[in-house]
Amino acid sequence: MTVAPRRLESYVCGSWTPGTGEGQLLRDAATGDPVARIDSSGIDFAAVLEHGRRVAGPRLRAMSFHDRAGMLKALGLALMERKEEFYAESLHTGATRPDGWIDIEGGIGTMLTFASKGRRELPNTRVLTDGAVEGLSKDGSFVAQHILSPLQGVAVHINAFNFPIWGMLEKIAPTLLAGMPCVVKPASQTAYLTELCVRRIIDTGLLPEGALQLISGSVGDLLDHVTGQDAVTFTGSASTGRRLKAHPAVIANSVRFTMEADSLNASILGPDAGPGTPEFDLFVKEVTREMTAKAGQKCTAIRRVIAPRAHVQALVEALGERLGKTALGLPGDATTRMGALASLEQRAEVRARIRELQADAEIVAGSPDEVRVSSGDAERGAFLNPVLMYCDRPFAATAVHDIEAFGPVSTVMPYDTPEEAVELSRMGKGSLVTSVFTDDPAVAEEIVLGAAPFHGRVLIGNRASAKTSTGHGSPLAPLVHGGPGRAGGGEEMGGIRGVKHYMQRTAVQGCPRLLSAVTGRWIEGAPALHDVHPFRKSLAELRIGDQLVTASRTVTLEDVEHFARFTGDTFYAHMDAAAAKANPFFEDRVAHGYLIASFAAGLFVEPNPGPVLANYGVDNLRFLTPVYFGDTLQVRLTCKEINPRANAEHGEVRWDCQVSNQDGAVVAQYDVLTMVAKHWPPEAM
Ligand code: NDP
Repeated sequence: MTVAPRRLESYVCGSWTPGTGEGQLLRDAATGDPVARIDSSGIDFAAVLEHGRRVAGPRLRAMSFHDRAGMLKALGLALMERKEEFYAESLHTGATRPDGWIDIEGGIGTMLTFASKGRRELPNTRVLTDGAVEGLSKDGSFVAQHILSPLQGVAVHINAFNFPIWGMLEKIAPTLLAGMPCVVKPASQTAYLTELCVRRIIDTGLLPEGALQLISGSVGDLLDHVTGQDAVTFTGSASTGRRLKAHPAVIANSVRFTMEADSLNASILGPDAGPGTPEFDLFVKEVTREMTAKAGQKCTAIRRVIAPRAHVQALVEALGERLGKTALGLPGDATTRMGALASLEQRAEVRARIRELQADAEIVAGSPDEVRVSSGDAERGAFLNPVLMYCDRPFAATAVHDIEAFGPVSTVMPYDTPEEAVELSRMGKGSLVTSVFTDDPAVAEEIVLGAAPFHGRVLIGNRASAKTSTGHGSPLAPLVHGGPGRAGGGEEMGGIRGVKHYMQRTAVQGCPRLLSAVTGRWIEGAPALHDVHPFRKSLAELRIGDQLVTASRTVTLEDVEHFARFTGDTFYAHMDAAAAKANPFFEDRVAHGYLIASFAAGLFVEPNPGPVLANYGVDNLRFLTPVYFGDTLQVRLTCKEINPRANAEHGEVRWDCQVSNQDGAVVAQYDVLTMVAKHWPPEAM
């Protein structure tokens, strides 16, 4: 039975909208059967951007970081429940189940990681502070603080065909967490999977209307309408990327443009990692995996294999043998190890690139023209066996460092010294990732430091991390994904760094009282409030600036000796006057820093059961002035930041803690971190 191809729709301005034209037919990568039609004609793209800005922007910005993190978590969990539907659709793209895992569960996992980071690493506010308060006047009456606030436009994400779900989720997660709406434009070839995923996202009702719009098909004149408050990200070919980056509206409005394009990633076999070592075996496994996963259609795949000249022959033999065993076939077939390329056009592209690479390199394993499949039709499906090439004189070559065959193709090249290995990795002119397989610390240092300025990520592979390593080709949500030069010059993900990309950094200058009002954080010099002990206040009662100035306590010789004996910390500066005096920092024996912090707690706590539930640490602890016997300490504790936790009966409170001596000199400064109940006594359940 022939099933009519699904007609993809765009989700714009609050409704699913079909194109008005005939559209482009999209075929199953492995069978050639029609899957879908895609068309976006008739869409008013200026209205799409305006819908995001006017309808979703204000609603997203009204939410706190924790609200938005909670929304992403709920969304990620809802998508995970529907993953089998995505796996089924993913087969049309030529992806096997392990390939689909990278895209589907990798994408959802990335969204969940951002949700968790947003909850743990960001305050429950709508504005972020960035860095410390900068003093700009001697008397402290004029200070500055950098803040980050969400851009008020729309982020337009133009994605590549190879990861229809991950490519979308890894970008929308940090964008939505920042508080900015998104317009996603997937590559046409595999847009049916993105469209299905967006349908399921919209069905959940978890996102404010307009926070996510989808364009199935061309973006038409959309870029003509971008403003300085919008952002554009692009993943795909360098030529398209350059064209879009030079779009007149992008240039005229200084639109943030992030590009991730072609990348000639390398992997280096260390000089110590010859045949017989665990690193050699790991290297062979990794190169094979990178060439065959997703049929080599990964932006991070290893394109250049850099190996000591002495080991090249053994390496080529080992790789050839392993690659030769790769069962090529229908992605849903249990025996298949490698599926199809995304389309017949893509296979023709890869074959053309292999011919160009032959100017510098010879084929040493596999054939680009004779396709051997264990299932499926070798001609109707976009199948291509892995092709290993060898370039004997890589310093005299250009094609192998410039041409990205976006398929199961890699070139082995020899080096004679580690400097040469580094130089070869740099000849890619900037890549997303390089890896080095070595067990030698000196080799690791030389190669990583030499390659780092030309790469966004460097992985060291060896026996110690063999079982736990996430591998050369896996971009991870907490780590930066992007690379300089040819790789596009962009940075994505990288944990909270990726969120800040969608926010504007602003230096705000003023007096402490007004700056504190802007940031919602108490800063030195802002007014302080004194009434009941702040540890008696629940979150419902506590205010930023609530302050306690304690009684004082004199530190004695007996205190220090008791503390030293009790804890075992008999460091000479506390115990031996002559040795302490010989130390350039001290005039005599000094009190332990931790004794000062302990006395401080003794001075500021309110001992009775109350709303303060736990102390979970301190931040930025510094001992600033030595404390000698007879010095008198006093503590000033000020409520600095309050973060009520969503879906919990408590929240976090950060206290500014300053310990001073009898002369007013600050001897210790730190933030005390506590959990505080929202209500006290707790409300009846
Ligand atoms: P393209 O650059 O053609 O397309 C990338 C994205 O840009 C697609 O969504 C595409 O949409 C869109 N696009 C194309 N033209 C325009 C335009 N004028 N205005 C707005 N959007 C546009 O790359 P492909 O996806 O076809 O991949 C081609 C090559 O790119 C690969 O062979 C590979 O070499 C490289 N690539 C690199 C990746 C990396 O991360 N390093 C990832 C993927 C690919 P549409 O599909 O509708 O044309």
